[in-house]
Amino acid sequence: MSTLEEIEATYVVVGGGIAGISCIESLKLYTSDIILLISETPTIKIVTNVKYHTKLAAEFDVEGRSVHSIENIKYIIGKVISIDSLAHIVYTNNSKVKYKKLCLCTGATPKLINNQNYVIGLRDTHSVEYFQSILGHAKEILIIGNGGIATDLVYKLNGIKIIWVIKDDHISSHFLDAGAAEFFSDYVNTTQKQSGVVKRHRYKGEEGTRAALGPDWHSGPMFGNNKNKEVIVEYMTTIERISKNERVKVELANGKIYECDFVVSATGVVPNNNIELKNNEHFLIAPDGGIKVNWKMETNIPDVFAAGDVCTTDWKSEHWFQMRLWSQARQMGMYSAKCMYFTHIKEEFYQDFSFELFTHVTCFFGFKVILLGLYNAQGLNKKDCELLVRVTKGHEYIKLVLEKGKVVGAMLIGNSDLEEMCENLILNKIDVTNLTDDLLDPNIDIDDYFD
Ligand SMILES: Cc1cc2nc3c(=O)[nH]c(=O)nc-3n(C[C@H](O)[C@H](O)[C@H](O)COP(=O)(O)OP(=O)(O)OC[C@H]3O[C@@H](n4cnc5c(N)ncnc54)[C@H](O)[C@@H]3O)c2cc1C
Repeated sequence: MSTLEEIEATYVVVGGGIAGISCIESLKLYTSDIILLISETPTIKIVTNVKYHTKLAAEFDVEGRSVHSIENIKYIIGKVISIDSLAHIVYTNNSKVKYKKLCLCTGATPKLINNQNYVIGLRDTHSVEYFQSILGHAKEILIIGNGGIATDLVYKLNGIKIIWVIKDDHISSHFLDAGAAEFFSDYVNTTQKQSGVVKRHRYKGEEGTRAALGPDWHSGPMFGNNKNKEVIVEYMTTIERISKNERVKVELANGKIYECDFVVSATGVVPNNNIELKNNEHFLIAPDGGIKVNWKMETNIPDVFAAGDVCTTDWKSEHWFQMRLWSQARQMGMYSAKCMYFTHIKEEFYQDFSFELFTHVTCFFGFKVILLGLYNAQGLNKKDCELLVRVTKGHEYIKLVLEKGKVVGAMLIGNSDLEEMCENLILNKIDVTNLTDDLLDPNIDIDDYFD
């Protein structure tokens, strides 16, 4: 029988993605106690070049680095198999780690519509490398899903026919409303712009490693400047049947049949919650499969925290809600470090300010997109809401969501420069009832009202 290496640390963090590494980096600021990272792979993800568009809305680069590059911590390369929460021990495939506080940042895995090799899910650098290797030979592919990954792929892929199958009546429904989708409709069939694209997250991987994915996962021959592109969007339907003979045959619920080289499944993720608990204990799991955490990022198991894609918050604030995004993985990772530390030293603490406002900075079809607060009136009673919209075709799409005279959300597409004003209006809960005619008037400098 092989013996397991035994290690002890005050703080143990599992997972070398953005949540785990952000947690580790923040813990180092709080404490000189021993911090240990358990990473499945020797490549971890580091957030760099954080750029703030407002006090809270940030974009950043992500670099894949060797785990050796993190200073002043211990680490183990291994997969966590089980936890004995009574003894405070984590078991990996090759070691036994005693902890005082433990944080699970194990991420999530894409849901696949089936597990045939002609259905591809993108989840780590390895799957993206495989995708790129077969893409070069493909003439037609079918993408199913309507979130950020599908939208990004449709825009970034060139020189290929794409059938984009979505269950909604407009594209990119996770982020856009029907009006914004209409604004982008002219661009679905256009080739990726090579200039004028706002700065995006960037991911630098290391050769030969198989790690979690970072933002600029799309690069390679088919992501270039080839002009021959055709996108067919199949709205309000889904896949009924897939089979393969010479080519992959996909039958849709609307009766249409397509043949393609392969299918990309981008239909959401399943949190990696499959860590066994000993002593007959179980994590409380939310309906979406995430491990439930309270406002202190604590799971139901004492001294075990969770952050990033693996967790589901059982709280939300007035203008913040959870979405499985890079920015939230970072936010939660950093905050869980604070929670672990203050719980360990038994001191009170407040929730982080960053959870006061949902923010997401991204880029769709070459346009900067900033989403703030309840940008799609999420959870609001529609009869209490008013929308202020300004659209300049090919230039900008701006929408403010007002509830009872106060701005509660904003969707800013293009270079509107309104993000700071919107953030202030939301956070300060300013009544704008008398300003609604002026708020989006490009000839009025609304900041003057608040000076
Ligand atoms: C193709 C793709 C494109 C995306 N595009 C965007 C985008 O444009 N913008 C955006 O905001 N978000 C995007 N996302 C989502 C974003 O990647 C995630 O929200 C974010 O990476 C979550 O970070 P995390 O640290 O929680 O998990 P991950 O980054 O997945 O890291 C989890 C880590 O835990 C490790 N692990 C898992 N189980 C164990 C175990 N038992 N033991 C030890 N280690 C383990 C894994 O190996 C991995 O290293 C995209 C995701 C994908 C797949």
